[in-house]
Amino acid sequence: PSEAEMAYAESLFALTPDFPEPGVLFRDISPMLADPKALRTTAEALIHPFSGQFDIIAGIEARGFVLAGVMAGVCGSGVLPVRKAGKLPDPAGYVEYALEYGTAAIEAPGVLKPGQRVLLVDDVLATGGTLAASRTLVQQLGAEVAGAAVVLELEGLGGREVAGEVHALFNA
Ligand code: AMP
Repeated sequence: PSEAEMAYAESLFALTPDFPEPGVLFRDISPMLADPKALRTTAEALIHPFSGQFDIIAGIEARGFVLAGVMAGVCGSGVLPVRKAGKLPDPAGYVEYALEYGTAAIEAPGVLKPGQRVLLVDDVLATGGTLAASRTLVQQLGAEVAGAAVVLELEGLGGREVAGEVHALFNA
C-alpha cells in the first residue's frame, strides 16, 4: 500500500476516552473495517513482511477474527480462531495469562498440522499479554509462530518486550 493509503487507514480509528474503564483511551478499528479501501490496505500491509512465510493466520478474538479473515482472502491462506476460554466444545490448547486485575485464558480448536507456520494477528498491542499467550498456544499445538502483526501498537506499555517481535502498522 502507498503512504497515502496508509495515512487514510490510520485516520479511521475511533477514539473513546475512559472505556472500558476510567483512564483508558479505547481505540476502535471499526471505521477502518467498515471502509472497503482502508480494510484492503490494512490487510495487505499486515501481510506484507510475512509474504510466503506462513501457512495459516491466527486471528485473536474478536477484532483479530475479522482481520485474519480478510487477510486470508487476500493471500489465499486459512484461518485459526484464537478464542477466549470457554467458547469451544473441544479445545486443543489452553493458556492462562495475567491481566492488570486477575487472569484471562485463551483456547484454540485442534486444526493445526504439526510444524504449520502461523501468522498471529490482532488489532491492538497494549501490554503484550494476549499476544505472548497466543504464541505459547500455537507452540502448545505443535505448530510454529511465523510472526505477529497488529494494526496499532500502544507505546510505553512494554508490549513488545512481553510479546516478542511484532509488525505494527501504526504507533500511538
Ligand atoms: P494486551 O494483552 O494488553 O496487549 O491487550 C491486547 C488486547 O486488548 C487486544 O486484543 C486489544 O483488542 C485490547 N486492547 C487493549 N488496549 C486497548 C485499547 N486502548 N484500545 C482498544 N483495544 C485495546
